[in-house]
Amino acid sequence: MADEDRKAVAAGGRTTASLPITIAGITKSYGTFRALDDISLDVASGEFLTLLGPSGSGKTTLLMVLAGFVRPDCGSVRFGDDEMVLSPPHKRGVGMVFQNYALFPHMTVAGNIAYPLKLRKVGRAESEDRVRRALDLVQLSELGERRINQLSGGQMQRVALARAIVFEPRILLMDEPLSALDKKLREQMQIELRHLHERLGMTTVYVTHDQREALTMSDRIAVISDGRFVQIDRPRELYERPRTRFVADFIGESSFLPVDVANGVAMLGDRKLLLPAPPAPDSRQYLVVRPEKLDIVGEGDPSGLNLIEGKVKEHVYQGESFLLYVTLADGVEIVMRQPTRREVLATVPGPGEPIRLAIHPEDTILVMRDAG
Ligand code: ATP
Repeated sequence: MADEDRKAVAAGGRTTASLPITIAGITKSYGTFRALDDISLDVASGEFLTLLGPSGSGKTTLLMVLAGFVRPDCGSVRFGDDEMVLSPPHKRGVGMVFQNYALFPHMTVAGNIAYPLKLRKVGRAESEDRVRRALDLVQLSELGERRINQLSGGQMQRVALARAIVFEPRILLMDEPLSALDKKLREQMQIELRHLHERLGMTTVYVTHDQREALTMSDRIAVISDGRFVQIDRPRELYERPRTRFVADFIGESSFLPVDVANGVAMLGDRKLLLPAPPAPDSRQYLVVRPEKLDIVGEGDPSGLNLIEGKVKEHVYQGESFLLYVTLADGVEIVMRQPTRREVLATVPGPGEPIRLAIHPEDTILVMRDAG
């Protein structure tokens, strides 16, 4: 496709009709083990939703239920108004990209991409046209005649993607499609996938255990643990307002400091905390301390901020930023991240020296100590 056409596709926006997905009461057991435990979720038409969770939490099982490769014990999966739970995979009209790409190594790139069209008995002229457009979308127009085993990992990933979208599926399912790529290529592909989704607009369910990838790509993230959703939110809400210790711990780095709430006042040691909203009455909570939300402050009371005092334990240099491990009076350790800018490095106390840190009330997140 020429540049002109590419621009037209970009400007014209959506080339694919998308459908909402409604998942209701899905349970899947293997013997006595419940891989999915009464899962319900609505994915809006055109939404990019990521399933994020630790290994074994049920992400792939749920994706396979959506694709039709795993039949749940009970529950319903609807695409638009159509009940799908008993439909075989080939009748669901979904595009799929898996971890290992599952390409045919003996075929050319174009042959691989044309395969789903062949299955659907699309005529030759139309098939060639669609393959050409799909190749162009993933920016591999020059490589149609190459064999799969002559491609880099990133190129193979793009072929897999082109093959998944060539028949214009209403729903796209992806299971860790970038896991085999190195960091730099993975980050490039994350942005490319995001742009492709914006252009094509199909409803997308994406599986990853990489929290940064989830934050970068998703409209919403569903955090899953032991076969249940623990929080479903937009990336920023999830990071800034985790509802449980599990979510705060899994997404981003955190230190946890015990806080007691009595008579409507949250106390961190002998200091009263300023909070964005009233705390749960008479509760035991944790203050979630994100490393980048801490600032170093000088002597005196930093008005309007929450103060945390301690001693520097060590610095860890990480290139663009460095970590500062700080031990508090009660022996608890917290970690802060600072940019390696010259003026910051010049003022940071060294190991063994006292340090005073402040956290803004808006960044002062509490999660319950006795739950999750
Ligand atoms: P990962 O990130 O490691 O891929 P996941 O979140 O995708 O993990 P699933 O593959 O969905 O996890 O597996 C969820 C649980 O179900 C795991 O404990 C797994 O061992 C179990 N499981 C999955 N498939 C089967 C099966 N066919 N038979 C028995 N147990 C299974």
